[in-house]
Amino acid sequence: MALIVQKYGGSSVADAESIKRVAKRIVDTRRAGHDVVVAVSAMGDTTDELLDLANAVAPIAAPRELDMLLSSGERISMALLAMAIHSMGFEARSFTGSQAGMITDAHHGAARIVDVTPVRLREALDEGAIVIVAGFQGFNRDTRDITTLGRGGSDTTAVALAAALDADVCEIYSDVDGIFTADPRVVPHARKLDTVSSEEMLELAANGAKVLYIRAVEYARRHGVLIHARSSFSSNEGTYVLGEGMKSPRAAEGDAMEEPVVAGVATDLSQAKVTVVGVPDVPGKAADIFTIVAKSGANVDMIVQNVSAASTGRTDISFTLPKADAATAIRALQGEKDAVGFENLLHDDQIGKLSVVGAGMRVHSGVSATLFEALSKAGVNIEMISTSEIRISVVLRASDIASAAAAVHTAYGLDADGEATVYAGTGR
Ligand code: ASP
Ligand code: MG
Repeated sequence: MALIVQKYGGSSVADAESIKRVAKRIVDTRRAGHDVVVAVSAMGDTTDELLDLANAVAPIAAPRELDMLLSSGERISMALLAMAIHSMGFEARSFTGSQAGMITDAHHGAARIVDVTPVRLREALDEGAIVIVAGFQGFNRDTRDITTLGRGGSDTTAVALAAALDADVCEIYSDVDGIFTADPRVVPHARKLDTVSSEEMLELAANGAKVLYIRAVEYARRHGVLIHARSSFSSNEGTYVLGEGMKSPRAAEGDAMEEPVVAGVATDLSQAKVTVVGVPDVPGKAADIFTIVAKSGANVDMIVQNVSAASTGRTDISFTLPKADAATAIRALQGEKDAVGFENLLHDDQIGKLSVVGAGMRVHSGVSATLFEALSKAGVNIEMISTSEIRISVVLRASDIASAAAAVHTAYGLDADGEATVYAGTGR
């Protein structure tokens, strides 16, 4: 008998039928003799709809009230799920984040879990109940207020529960069969990975893969939680995300096989590019620019500085950042134009980022050559390049992303024979 934590995303509990289907899965796990703790997201697009409502009554909502509002989405799904389980003849109890002992800092909208005290969950488990916990929410002890963990936060709830309860596995259910070598909506011939290392998963998530949230993967890595990402629409085994020293629960199959050099190709259309034109090429200018940008609250990703033209002594500096942060960053820079001494600002929101991720890059050569050759054959122009130890990213035209991803996927030999199944369509 094991203790299994399961997380169901919004698309898995989108309506009454889906809730009953999920309830049945949970009951099946219980019937198999396991203790089950479930973290559940709000139904379908509930969180987005609540955000729209908030926007309609107040363009800038008070963060405390926004968290009060958003946390209600998960209350609905948790209670309905518990009811559906009751009607199948099983005992289930739902708990809000605060009842479950999810203690966070006071940062509304992006709270971090600081402690988990699942006393009531343990009691319920000891009494033989299935435990359902509202995802995405917590409680701050100082302010005594409800907090939320940021979009997609239910993954983190599940992993934190698994760590606190010392669960055997944390199963994260979505509408795809696991972690794929690319987003199956972008590259139909994407292949499901049996396992992926948590460091590769972190890079994939940070660069656009949406199946798992980065904070949840980080939390799992830190606390040694085994994640099994799988679909709630099939009974297929999904992908195990393995932290350092963890072994795949799949048989010894992996041992003999050679690790592929590239684990996957991630794409991201959420960024914009800003170019600061005609920056004086003297010490301190990059510091000025990025201090201004940082103060505006923007999170800069890639940075490229051109060689300066000898005749002018000026250079261009381009950087990427989330589209949502671009307007504020540009306004901040514009305000300091004369002080910094640059000539002009360009804003481009038609870019896409493609990243190739693989731990095998550390020891294999020629990985970047394969990428550039594939892009060249596909007739795709590269605008920026950046690398980490296990990743190469390029910025392209947004309109080139799908064809580029397919070409690169093929070039690394990642294509599956058939097309991947997408059960619902949101990737969550
Ligand atoms: N309902 C929240 C959201 O949509 C949390 C989650 O789905 O994980 O972001
Ligand atoms: Mg959701």
